[in-house]
Amino acid sequence: MLSKRAYNFNAGPAALPLEVLERAQAEFVDFRESGMSIMEMSHRGVIYESVHNEAQERLLSLFGNPEGYKVLFLQGGASTQFAMIPMNFISAGQVGSYVMSGSWADKAYKEAKLAGGAHVAASSEDKSFLAIPDLKSIQAADNAAYLHVTSNETIEGTQYAEFPDSGSIPLIGDMSSDILSRSFDINKFGLIYAGAQKNLGPSGVTVVIAKEEMIAESPSNIPTILRYSTHYNNNSLYNTPPSYSIYMVNEVLKWIGEQGGLAGVESKNRDKAGLLYNTIDGSDGYYRGVAEQGSRSIMNVTFRMQSEDAEKQFVKAAEKEGFIGLKGHRSVGGLRASIYNAVPYENIKVLVDFMNHFRQTQG
Ligand SMILES: *Cc1c(COP(=O)(O)O)cnc(C)c1O
Repeated sequence: MLSKRAYNFNAGPAALPLEVLERAQAEFVDFRESGMSIMEMSHRGVIYESVHNEAQERLLSLFGNPEGYKVLFLQGGASTQFAMIPMNFISAGQVGSYVMSGSWADKAYKEAKLAGGAHVAASSEDKSFLAIPDLKSIQAADNAAYLHVTSNETIEGTQYAEFPDSGSIPLIGDMSSDILSRSFDINKFGLIYAGAQKNLGPSGVTVVIAKEEMIAESPSNIPTILRYSTHYNNNSLYNTPPSYSIYMVNEVLKWIGEQGGLAGVESKNRDKAGLLYNTIDGSDGYYRGVAEQGSRSIMNVTFRMQSEDAEKQFVKAAEKEGFIGLKGHRSVGGLRASIYNAVPYENIKVLVDFMNHFRQTQG
């Protein structure tokens, strides 16, 4: 691969491992000597189905093969899960309890309000969402059908260090921006979900991993395609799945295995985030971390400079050097480096060298 790769810090869709792209390229036209691309074959054929099942098995295996869990491949992004969760789980007289930690939690909460009833279990709005609410402050409603958390707030750059214990109420996690970035005990959760385009693969597929008892039966008064049971009973082949995206997810999962699984990627991710936060903290206030210590994300590193003007100049100079995606989300401004699994340590080294150089020459 001779062409220069961008230093890609996009928040999503985001960087994919170069090895994965190269393998996909090698089998793009002729998949496993079938004489066609995987995109051109039936999703009911043995070749595609083997990839589909392999991806499910790899996911569960990375999580230590938890007992009684099933993987679903759905469409419509994590945003569709915001609606499906309340539609499927909230019965009459119940609500969904939501931990309000930032922009994505708020979107999930608003859909539950529309589709059943929503309750705020805790909030860090008083801190402008620059911290995850204290776990001890989280209180699900008595009539909660579930407790919903957003494990990593992609826009604000915050992340749960540990997850709350929800007792007998099923815990549901939006893990779109940090799934497979670190080890945690999936058994605490009834259901987790993630749009693939941040840490799992390309856009187009949403991964759901759930306890079978939660998804085997769904209300019959909601549209068939929006019932978890439809996808559970049909092994996510009720309708045509996003086959190429699922194939790519399978390749990314293989790659994660080669990195030493969750423990391996976590250790790399902590080194990467540590390097970047140390650079920010060691800049005598030239760069300022946005998220509170203890809630800092190892996936989305948000920071600011003295003025919006300085930030603009920083982004402009960075783009000239081949850095992509360093502008903060339009709703919060500032700067953000998204350093998902596929972003190599070396690229962060190049970024911090640039940050130090910029500070010395512009400061
Ligand atoms: C990106 C993101 C979403 C939205 O995902 P879509 O797949 O675009 O619907 C939801 N939650 C979090 C935490 C995200 O980062």
